[in-house]
Amino acid sequence: MTPLEALDRVVHCLDRAHVGGFKAKAFVRARDVVRNTPADEIAERAAKGTLTALDGIGDSTAKVITEALAGGTPSYLTKLEAETQLELSDAARPYREALRGDCHLHSTWSDGGATIDAMAETAIALGHEYMVLTDHSARLTIAHGLDRDRLLQQLDVIAGLNAELAPFRILTGMEVDINEDGSLDLEDDLLEGLDVVVASVHSKLRSPAPEMTLRMVRAVISPHVDILGHCTGRLIEKRPPSVFDAAAVFDACAEFGTAVEINSRPERLDPPYELLERAIAAGCWFSIDSDAHATGQLEWQPNGCERAAHCEVPIDRIVNTMSADDLLEWTRN
Ligand SMILES: [Zn+2]
Ligand SMILES: [Zn+2]
Repeated sequence: MTPLEALDRVVHCLDRAHVGGFKAKAFVRARDVVRNTPADEIAERAAKGTLTALDGIGDSTAKVITEALAGGTPSYLTKLEAETQLELSDAARPYREALRGDCHLHSTWSDGGATIDAMAETAIALGHEYMVLTDHSARLTIAHGLDRDRLLQQLDVIAGLNAELAPFRILTGMEVDINEDGSLDLEDDLLEGLDVVVASVHSKLRSPAPEMTLRMVRAVISPHVDILGHCTGRLIEKRPPSVFDAAAVFDACAEFGTAVEINSRPERLDPPYELLERAIAAGCWFSIDSDAHATGQLEWQPNGCERAAHCEVPIDRIVNTMSADDLLEWTRN
């Protein structure tokens, strides 16, 4: 294991455990330093004990680097690997085992922290057959959303990666903003060409129910939209769920074949149980997605599986249990 691989794995484990703050930042910073410093300089400093003279390397990150260079797994990483494993209940296990891909995740092209190929390598290691890359659309400037030109560039990059990574497939997509009038933040010709489109509300989350309902219904009946992302927009203990007429929205999803996402981010866990039960009753499709913004977060799907198990979502209504070809067939119809 090289120092860079060790630090990468530490960051991955901290991400999957949703550890943020100072500790995570220190390891991300140290990883950048190691990436940008010649390997022989790192080795020389490790031998002399002068790693911490480098700006961005502290005692604990230096220890990980030194132990990696000595051969074997750094002790801190061994501890983290054990402590940050995600648990999966017996009820949720069949859901996780049935998943063949992940339909909502981000890369450094928008507000993610990992490159497309790092996300793909992790998805492969998790046993996925495919992932849908869904970076943000242009309106979400805070997340460095992609405009038309950048999306076209990204499609080229994905084509190149797919040639290298086969049989794994990166499906093209976007998490497109639902504008306030229910239109979508991307031109129709591009929406048409993407494999999977997730549509989400990211603004005016406190709108009155009639406005929010109309906005969401307009989006989910679009023939381009395949999945409704994190439907209430809630952030647990930080932001209450949006209010809308759930029957109207979920009936429209069921009728127009738009899946309701079960978002696995620990701070979202969206929809809440009551709404998830209503979506099941409406006959909706579902997609259990990580909404990962880092490699470690790709391991969050068990959170969504637990929620699906709790509400007994029929497994055959979960679109990412399909093969990539069947999923593409489903999105086309
Ligand atoms: Zn979102
Ligand atoms: Zn997202």
